[in-house]
Amino acid sequence: MVSLGFLIWGLMILAFAAFRYPAMRKARKQRTRQDRRDVLDISLLGLCVIGLLIVPLIWRLTDIFSGFDTMLSPLRVLLGIVCAGSFLWLFWRSHKDLGKNWSVSLELREGHQLVTNGVYRHVRHPMYAAFFLWGLAQAFLLANNFAAVTGFVAVLLLYVLRHGREEAMMRDAFGANYEAYSKSTKRLIPGIY
Ligand code: SAH
Repeated sequence: MVSLGFLIWGLMILAFAAFRYPAMRKARKQRTRQDRRDVLDISLLGLCVIGLLIVPLIWRLTDIFSGFDTMLSPLRVLLGIVCAGSFLWLFWRSHKDLGKNWSVSLELREGHQLVTNGVYRHVRHPMYAAFFLWGLAQAFLLANNFAAVTGFVAVLLLYVLRHGREEAMMRDAFGANYEAYSKSTKRLIPGIY
């Protein structure tokens, strides 16, 4: 079960990279109109790489976190698969809907358009919702109490410290249209939050 959980986690990461790489290549070609990246935002992204990727790899390749090792039940692996599948679907879908308007950090592109269709019709932050599902998948799939939670904690910090600044940037750029869009949508969970 331990190796199966890690294997599924690894396949999830590979699928994520396969979706993200073309989006990053396309994004590099888009000109930036406004750049609100700063030390905080870059550090939060770095923290996500550490929590979601580096800690699990260090756990698997060394003994450093072995004091936190635990067992995996079949139910836990099943829940992990469900979260991993939901993450990949929502991640792929939100990339598709956001298209040329996507950026890894707080930026607005030349000709940036407000996207309110597809998954963005239901929530304002589907990509962050997808990353929460990644954190949950990690929590279910990794048989170590430390490596299981670092991803979710990093995503939580990124979300808490970023979404207000991102919404302010969007409000400055799209004014009343973004206000109206905010009133008709929730942030992460349709109809709830
Ligand atoms: N918060 C969104 C997008 C994350 S990507 C989500 O979770 O799905 C971050 C970039 O997407 C931001 O810098 C902003 O430029 C852009 N963005 C966010 N919401 C958008 C929207 N509704 N329409 C167009 N661009 C958006």
